[in-house]
Amino acid sequence: MDMGDFSNPFDLFESLFEGMGGMGGMGGRASRNRAVDGQDEYYNIVLNFKEAVFGVEKEIEITRLESCGTCDGSGAKPGTKPSKCSTCGGQGQVVSSARTPLGVFQQVMTCSSCGGTGETFSPCNTCSGDGRVRRTKRISLKVPAGVDAGSRLRVRSEGNAGRRGGSPGDLFVIIEVMSDPVLKRDDTNILYTCKVSYIDAILGTTIKVPTVDGMVDLKIPAGTQPSTTLVMAKKGVPVLSKRNMRGDQLVRVQVEIPKRLSSEEKKLIEELADLSKGKTATSRR
Ligand SMILES: [Zn+2]
Ligand SMILES: [Zn+2]
Repeated sequence: MDMGDFSNPFDLFESLFEGMGGMGGMGGRASRNRAVDGQDEYYNIVLNFKEAVFGVEKEIEITRLESCGTCDGSGAKPGTKPSKCSTCGGQGQVVSSARTPLGVFQQVMTCSSCGGTGETFSPCNTCSGDGRVRRTKRISLKVPAGVDAGSRLRVRSEGNAGRRGGSPGDLFVIIEVMSDPVLKRDDTNILYTCKVSYIDAILGTTIKVPTVDGMVDLKIPAGTQPSTTLVMAKKGVPVLSKRNMRGDQLVRVQVEIPKRLSSEEKKLIEELADLSKGKTATSRR
C-alpha cells in the first residue's frame, strides 16, 4: 500500500510529552487585547492489527471550537462597537484594597467585567461573546504503516480555534490497537508459535504459517530442536517512516511428543531405542 508522504500535515510523535504544552491561554494573564491560542484537541482511534501494521486512511469526526461566522470571531454582536469598560476605565485591571491587622494591602487584579481587555461589547448571539462555536467536522486521517498502541498522530491546526487572532491548536490522534488471536506484536517483529510433531521435527517438513501477508510456507529443517525460533525475514511490521524496511516474523517451534502410541508405533520406537543403544555402544568402542 502506498502511504505517500505523511510528514505533512501529519507528524508522528514518538515522545510522550511533546505537544502536551499547548494549553493555549490556560492560566495566562489576559492582558489587553492579547491573542489567545486555541487549545489542542485529542481524539482516540481504535485500529485492528493489520491496519496498524500497514497503515490506513480513515474518516473521523471531531468536535472542536471554530471561529464564529456571525461575528467573524470578534465575539461582538455585528453592527455594534466595543466601548471602554466602565469597571476598569479601559485599563483591564482593577486595584482592590484589603484591610488587615498589618495594614491596608492593595492588590492588582484582572478586571472581571471585561476579562482584562479593557473593552465591553454587546455579545454576539451565536457564540455568546466567545467568538468561537463548537462544531463537528469530518477529516480524512492518513495513518502511516507501522504505528503501534500509544502512537500519536499530530494534525496541525485542526484543534480548537484561538481567540482574538490567536493561532489554532493541534489535533492529536491517540492510537489503540486491537490484538490478533494468533499473531503477537513486539515492536517491528511479529511473534508466532507453531506446533510440529516430533517426527516432523526430526525429518523436517514444510508448514503453512499465518502472517500479515497471508499464509506463507515455512520450512522446518530436519533436526529442529524444541523451542527453536525460526526467522521469516521481512514478514514483520514496516518500520515507521522508513519505506521498504520491515521487521521479521519470529516463529517459535513447539515440538509435540505423543502421549499415547499404538502398539505398532511403540514397537518401532523400541526398535529405534535399541538401534540408538547399539550406536552408543559402537561409538564408545
Ligand atoms: Zn459570534
Ligand atoms: Zn474592565
